Amino acid sequence: MGHAYKYRCEHCGYEEQFNQGHGFMVHSQPLGEYLKQSQKLFHYKTQNVLEDLAKEDGNLYLKAGFQIYKCPKCKILQDKTEVTVFKDEIVIHKSEFRCSACRTRLKLTNIHRLKKAICPNCHKRTFQMNHNHSDLWN
Ligand SMILES: [Zn+2]
Ligand SMILES: [Zn+2]
Repeated sequence: MGHAYKYRCEHCGYEEQFNQGHGFMVHSQPLGEYLKQSQKLFHYKTQNVLEDLAKEDGNLYLKAGFQIYKCPKCKILQDKTEVTVFKDEIVIHKSEFRCSACRTRLKLTNIHRLKKAICPNCHKRTFQMNHNHSDLWN
C-alpha cells in the first residue's frame, strides 16, 4: 500500500502530488522470478542492470516502490521508482536519481518531517503539504 501526498503552493497555487510506498510495484521477490514475467515495470536501463546482476548471482531479491526525493541544491521534491536488489539483506544495487533541473544527485527525504519545500513553479518556499487531501491508494 502506498500514500499520495498533495502539495500546494500558497503563493502561486501550483499543485503536485507525490507518491510513496509499494502500491502496485514489486514487493520483495526473487529477482529471477521478476525477470521471467513478461511485464516490464522499469526503465530499460534498470532492466539491463537487473539482467546483468541475475547472470552473476542467482540468489538475489528485488524490491521496488515509490520514494520521495529532494534535490539538495534546488530543494525541489520529486517522486521516483526506487529499485533495490539485495542478497541476505545486504543491498547490492540501489537506483540513484539526478535532479531534472540541475543534475545534482537527489537525496531521499522524509516527507513526514518536511513542512515546507520550494515550489517548482515560482521557486518560493511556500510549497506545503495539503493534509486534507492526502489519500491512500493500493
Ligand atoms: Zn536540482
Ligand atoms: Zn509557487
